[in-house]
Amino acid sequence: MILALHTGYPAMSNLLLDFNTRGGVINGSEPREIDIRPQYRWAWQKYLDGCANHWMPQEINMAADVALWNDPQGLSDDERQVIKRNLGFFTTADSLAANNIVLGTYRHITSAECRRYLLRQAFEEALHTHAYQYIVESLSLDEGEIFNMYHEVPSIHDKAAFLLPFIDTLTDPNFRTGTPENDQRLLRSLIVFACIMEGLFFYVGFVQILSFGRRNKMVGAAEQYQYILRDESMHLNFGIDLINQIKLENPPLWTPAFRDEIRSLLDQAVALEYRYAVDTMPRGVLGLNAEMFREYLRYIANRRATQIGLQEIYPGADNPFPWMSEVIDLKKEKNFFETRVTEYQTGGALRWD
Ligand code: FE
Repeated sequence: MILALHTGYPAMSNLLLDFNTRGGVINGSEPREIDIRPQYRWAWQKYLDGCANHWMPQEINMAADVALWNDPQGLSDDERQVIKRNLGFFTTADSLAANNIVLGTYRHITSAECRRYLLRQAFEEALHTHAYQYIVESLSLDEGEIFNMYHEVPSIHDKAAFLLPFIDTLTDPNFRTGTPENDQRLLRSLIVFACIMEGLFFYVGFVQILSFGRRNKMVGAAEQYQYILRDESMHLNFGIDLINQIKLENPPLWTPAFRDEIRSLLDQAVALEYRYAVDTMPRGVLGLNAEMFREYLRYIANRRATQIGLQEIYPGADNPFPWMSEVIDLKKEKNFFETRVTEYQTGGALRWD
């Protein structure tokens, strides 16, 4: 009744009917409903899963990393370079990711269920930059040097430069979906963000830091990266589900020319990420060398292609790091509580007086 008093405001029942009939993951009505619609239940479930995986960087003890870093014999120069360039890349990348979600993607997605997950994802991007900052501070690294890698290491710069036009589309205040051309631009940017940025450009870096942990070095940093990788694999899976939902609702967008273009972008991304592997490991380190990554990146690009319904780009590519999938499936309960040093304040512990 109160709603009906506002001039120009439809009655509540019409409002709900309106949302249900004009729904759609893009180009729908402004989402306000609190129902979880069956076609978007996957997004709601990912929001719940993301919340169940909650962690905080400062819960991880960095004492062993600090001791190793400060021991002149603790790490080789090449190992130190891997760590610094890695942090340099990820600090830039996760800031881009946060902007992309908050200032870009969120505005264009008209499913309340997906928006709820995007809010969780945005918070996780903040946790990730928090984690890198915490590592940089724990090791007393030169912050200026780390945060400037983007300008100084060509392959880090080139990866960001490749991404920026696609992210700019999403964050451009004048960009609107609703025409076939713009809907395709949105879809292209979402594919680049999920399948290339979060799904490919992070993976040399993840293997590098987790390889330290597997050799019992930089175990605190490696543990942080395990949680980041677990979050990121969920961001990727959400992105893939979102892309496939848009395809399902808008079949004309998925033209042969568009599919060829996406395959070509994945191919360019493999070349860029391979150069990052060479730049960060010019001589091989920790039993890793750039050549292993050439194969790994082809394997990953094949996975990303097939996950969104494209043919493999490099048939027969193998995974030289099968242990990575075990890390992605990491169960928090198994490892996390052994190392956590603080407790969350739960609802039962809050005081209201
Ligand atoms: Fe992410």
